[in-house]
Amino acid sequence: MNGHICKKCKVLKPTLDFYTRKLRNGSVVPRKECKACRALRDKVYIASLTTEQLARRNKLMGLRQRRFAVEHPIYWLAKQVRFRAKRTKPTRIAEISAEYLQELWQKQAGRCALTDKPMVLDVLDKRGWRNQKDRVSVDRINPDLGYTRENTQLVTAMANICKNAYQQPDFIDMCHAVSAHWAA
Ligand SMILES: [Zn+2]
Repeated sequence: MNGHICKKCKVLKPTLDFYTRKLRNGSVVPRKECKACRALRDKVYIASLTTEQLARRNKLMGLRQRRFAVEHPIYWLAKQVRFRAKRTKPTRIAEISAEYLQELWQKQAGRCALTDKPMVLDVLDKRGWRNQKDRVSVDRINPDLGYTRENTQLVTAMANICKNAYQQPDFIDMCHAVSAHWAA
């Protein structure tokens, strides 16, 4: 097994059970304490805070996340995808990385895979998710499948919300119907 002994609980655990950190020379190494021990330590620490201290901490964490989202929108997107996939369906595959999304963005030349409109890379504003029609979002081509490389495309937020959980051919059919009905 490719693993390490946790400094805290002294148990041999797989590498995936450790968070990593980046050294100054660029190499990535596992932390000395396993994820479970870290979570426990955080829990104890948070329980020791006063309401006021907790509010200040939450605000700071929120600010930090927001800054990260603004500075690294693609990384933020990848993180959101992994988080949401895990939350909605623990077994859902989310095999796309930020590097892959970056590739996709380049391949699609920053344009929506459904509408061909240029997408906007800003993912956040003051209130959180940018309520913006052309904001970039990650779409599963077939909504019954997970976020695999073949099943992932970048589309505008508006296209993504309209397509919702419908199959792509059905969605395109509807768009044609709307377009025909409203054609001048
Ligand atoms: Zn441990």
